[in-house]
Amino acid sequence: MSVLIAASECVPLVKTGGLADVIGALPGALRREGVDARVLLPGYPAVLRALRRPRDLGPAPGVDAEISGSHRLLAARTGKVALYVLDAPRLYDRPGNIYEDRGRDWPDNPSRFGAFSQAAAGLARHGAGGWRADVLNVNDWQTGLAPVYLDHWPGRRVPSVMTIHNISYQGLFDRGHAGPLGLPDAAYGEGWEYYGRLGFLKAGLMAADRITTVSPGYAREILTSAFGHGLDGVLRARRDALSGILNGADTGVWNPARDRAIPATFSARDLSGKAACRQARAERFGLDGPDEGPIVGVVSRLTAQKGIDLLVEALPALLDRGGRFVLLGSGEPGLERAMREVADVRPGRVGVEIGYDEALSHLIYAGADAIAGPSRFEPCGLTQLYALAYGALPVVARTGGLGDTVIDANPAALMTGAATGIVHDPGSAEALGVAFERLVALWAEPDLRRAVRERGMRHPVGWGPSAAAYARLYRSLVP
Ligand code: ADP
Repeated sequence: MSVLIAASECVPLVKTGGLADVIGALPGALRREGVDARVLLPGYPAVLRALRRPRDLGPAPGVDAEISGSHRLLAARTGKVALYVLDAPRLYDRPGNIYEDRGRDWPDNPSRFGAFSQAAAGLARHGAGGWRADVLNVNDWQTGLAPVYLDHWPGRRVPSVMTIHNISYQGLFDRGHAGPLGLPDAAYGEGWEYYGRLGFLKAGLMAADRITTVSPGYAREILTSAFGHGLDGVLRARRDALSGILNGADTGVWNPARDRAIPATFSARDLSGKAACRQARAERFGLDGPDEGPIVGVVSRLTAQKGIDLLVEALPALLDRGGRFVLLGSGEPGLERAMREVADVRPGRVGVEIGYDEALSHLIYAGADAIAGPSRFEPCGLTQLYALAYGALPVVARTGGLGDTVIDANPAALMTGAATGIVHDPGSAEALGVAFERLVALWAEPDLRRAVRERGMRHPVGWGPSAAAYARLYRSLVP
């Protein structure tokens, strides 16, 4: 069984969010299920620099050089992942962010990801270097046109799965791009057209054989107008094809017992190293003063989705009760400013680092007593999984994958020993404030807090069951 996974990000080569973690970890987990999964990536500078002795497979099948300029397909391995890379300098050889330039989408994104979708469909259909795919799994809008090409190009029909990692990013462009991208008019109304525009994600949702998203909770939510971002009608029409498969954490990378990015390792059995991490983190963020309450951490993109504004409003409920707070993140300038202001007003109690820093993120999880995730919506969320693994109590909103992975410390769950964190209503600063109050109260009871933490650390966050679910789905598509 071989599967081509096409995506625009993959750790450790290129990452802006959880998509990259998933694409970097899933192929290894699938191999244990007997699936040979290979990844196709765009040839961004960081990706090309990281390739060791890539094989040049010649022009990428399916890609129209009118759109891409000169191009070739490269094959290489990185760590655990077998990679194909679409090297097309006109589309990808540029500095900075992979999607945007100073806050604005790259104007040629339709070509950049249209050609990438062609490469995905072409490689899945024709294979390369003796390898062929039985199934194509595309991810998010950047690969959304691939199932359309597979449907309309003559020849071998490869079944496709479209995975939604975040339905709020849809790849909407002027419909004038459709002709040059070779999209068939026949697929207009029932396919790629979205309110008179060209919708990459919508196109994929209509054409793919199966649709998955990254948690069962989010799979239910996106069928509603409150969470569907306008695509709920499309999804309701295709609900029989839709399912939710939870993301896992790559436990080869996210394991406090073997993590080389933290000052001391630890495990559920021996937590002594965690105290050293906590201390190192407090020093790194300039925290001081009395150490009575929990230190809460956040590692996040700073966007409205992540409820960062709610956090700013609710923080006094934590800080006024002896808690402290650290944040690592970057994103919307207004939210970056708001977080810096909180740190200025509460020196020693709040530490804020604006930026992106993978190593520092490990120190935050390892040194945290709790990790907050107050998202307004959250397809799956990985930070709460890393929190569980690193013995930090997740304090999360009941939405999407957050609600699917954290068990609230209510009286029943405490009594049965099932609790792993604190879960609150989404979209409300008051509810988040109450959650912080509950955290501080739990913190004041050492036996209880230890029990919740240990239960959380034993929660299986790895990919095993979810990789098995993907493998079953792929097999169901191949006669
Ligand atoms: P999303 O994909 O919506 O951003 P997830 O929780 O699924 O949210 O994944 C976010 C990933 O990005 C996690 O691995 C998190 O640790 C990481 N991350 C987010 N912001 C930063 C940052 N500023 N520095 C380092 N890692 C970050």
